[in-house]
Amino acid sequence: MRALRFENNQLRLRGVAVPMSKTEALVRVLKSGICNTDTEICKGYANFQGTIGHEFVGVVEESSGAPHLIGKRVVGEINAGCGECGLCKKNDSRHCPNRTVLGIKGRDGAHAEFLTLPARNLLEVPDTVSDSQAVFVEPLAAAFGITEQIEIFPDARIAVVGDGKLGNLCAQSLALKSNRLTLIGKHAEKLSLVANRNIETVLLEDALKFGKDFDVVVEASGSESGFSLALDLLKPRGKLVLKSTFSGRTNTELWRVVVEEITIVGSRCGRFAPAIRLLEDNKINVENLVSEEFSLSEGVRAMRRAEEKGVMKVLLSMTN
Ligand SMILES: [Zn+2]
Ligand SMILES: [Zn+2]
Repeated sequence: MRALRFENNQLRLRGVAVPMSKTEALVRVLKSGICNTDTEICKGYANFQGTIGHEFVGVVEESSGAPHLIGKRVVGEINAGCGECGLCKKNDSRHCPNRTVLGIKGRDGAHAEFLTLPARNLLEVPDTVSDSQAVFVEPLAAAFGITEQIEIFPDARIAVVGDGKLGNLCAQSLALKSNRLTLIGKHAEKLSLVANRNIETVLLEDALKFGKDFDVVVEASGSESGFSLALDLLKPRGKLVLKSTFSGRTNTELWRVVVEEITIVGSRCGRFAPAIRLLEDNKINVENLVSEEFSLSEGVRAMRRAEEKGVMKVLLSMTN
């Protein structure tokens, strides 16, 4: 099969064997989505070597442990726990110290014709959710996961810093819980994607008109300057949610966190089931986030395209 692999500091499309597993389900990938994490991996993040990609929708081809899944269209939780530690036994394989992570840690990923995952990681996709929408389940779960980490009150004033894919999904998710949501970004076109979603949009250069007005600020800009802006916007004792994984080191002013008694919450992945439901109920618009779709054979070019300015989600199709 064809697979988009990062090896020896090089990204390339290669022919490799179809993965075989006695214990896991085999999934034929239909579409995958290129995430900023994929481009960060190609810059050294997570020290990963192998097939990249973790956002996908596919069809189960083989599943000896869960035969009812065969032929079903599925998405998959990307963290595969050991199944034996205390966290796994509490159903929290996302934090298992021995976990592998699809296309990120110890496990080949989704930018390929086939992948394997434990059957318990797979969730069926309702017919009303399209393949292109389903590819967004993973990042949407990550965005909506914030609402499980901190309580969002309807009158809480919330800012999301960053108008990229993740910032957009965070803003749409949190606007379902708060009536006072502001999305701050550098690009008027990207901000316009959340029009009619009950979200105030503000250009970065105008953001300092706000004082320390916000109860919660979500940093999703993927740049270090976002952290300092977030601190400029937060009320004393506010909550700062960090969403970006970028491979650089930070030079943050932690004394400001102490003086203002800020609570910092790191936030990575979320549960898939609520995200599938949000898409099924048309609560979140993801179609307008797709900038372009490439075939898997053009994977290297697609990755380059995903890094260009102004580009939102780039999809890979395995079927053409
Ligand atoms: Zn991702
Ligand atoms: Zn475990």
